[in-house]
Amino acid sequence: MQTTQSENLIEVRNMVKYYPIQGGILNRVVANVKAVDNISFSIKKGETLSLVGESGCGKTTAGHTLLRLHEPTSGEVYYKGVNLFALKEREMKPYRRDMQIVFQDPYGSLDPRLPIGESIAEGLKIHHIGSAQERFERVLQAMSRVGLQDFHALRYPHEFSGGQRQRIGIARALVMEPKFIVLDEPVSALDVSIQAQVLNILKDLQDSLDLTYLFVAHNLGVVEHISTRVAVMYLGKIAELSTREEIFEHPAHPYTIALLSAVPIPNPKIRRERIILEGDVPSALNPPSGCRFHPRCPFATEICSQEEPELRELMPEHFIACHHPQEGTSSGGIKTS
Ligand code: SF4
Repeated sequence: MQTTQSENLIEVRNMVKYYPIQGGILNRVVANVKAVDNISFSIKKGETLSLVGESGCGKTTAGHTLLRLHEPTSGEVYYKGVNLFALKEREMKPYRRDMQIVFQDPYGSLDPRLPIGESIAEGLKIHHIGSAQERFERVLQAMSRVGLQDFHALRYPHEFSGGQRQRIGIARALVMEPKFIVLDEPVSALDVSIQAQVLNILKDLQDSLDLTYLFVAHNLGVVEHISTRVAVMYLGKIAELSTREEIFEHPAHPYTIALLSAVPIPNPKIRRERIILEGDVPSALNPPSGCRFHPRCPFATEICSQEEPELRELMPEHFIACHHPQEGTSSGGIKTS
């Protein structure tokens, strides 16, 4: 995929993350779980790229590996033109400040014994940023940006609702004044009404602070309004990548079309033609030959089980890895002539 380095904040090239399985008397590597298998994409400054797919598709691993929360198996990730994968851990430190993450379960990442003000300040302390007073002021500012009040700083995690805890998670990232945030399923554990509030906060913050997001989600519906572009992942590979409009109006990969058909339309008079995918996502330990989607694809032909389709540009800004692209429609069906 050709992209110009200058307009991209992040550029991922051929990123691979395998988890080795050891066995036998000599405890040798006998197999690999191919969680992320040679993916490339870029993220422009100020945009939201959403990475979407069923659980087990590698989207979360991709987000974590990009930040080097997991060490990559191979590949390159450029941030402002610097290959992060080539840096030593101590050289990563300034980049870790710039690149933050918000987890799906903020409760799991908060110390139940610490008032949330202290948890939010943790990153500032680790990076030796500011005096105690300056850190306190930055914490209050980050909290106010996500709609929390000053007195909340002294409260403990169990005193907050799920939506408030996610605001705390966002404040923990914001306090570092990042340029780029990986949002790892940030609303998946929340009620639908709360999801919209948190998504609105994220959108407002992006606009006011000029943030760039990688938004990881298992549901296309969640990312419809926040995405600039969408990459659909299946079993460690990118199946389709395009602008939000193209993915939602003209999906071309059979897997994207099936995912889209599961997204409800908020109008009771319009129904989507639901495509039910047979079977589960196969194991990343031993992915199917050729196109990894072929055992579940209603359009598979012989070539699909033999040749892996390359990610190619179907039309400007619309990339797809499929031997037989379809003309999907926004109502979830396939155009027939
Ligand atoms: Fe389906 Fe074949 Fe396209 Fe894979 S390459 S998505 S099996 S039509």
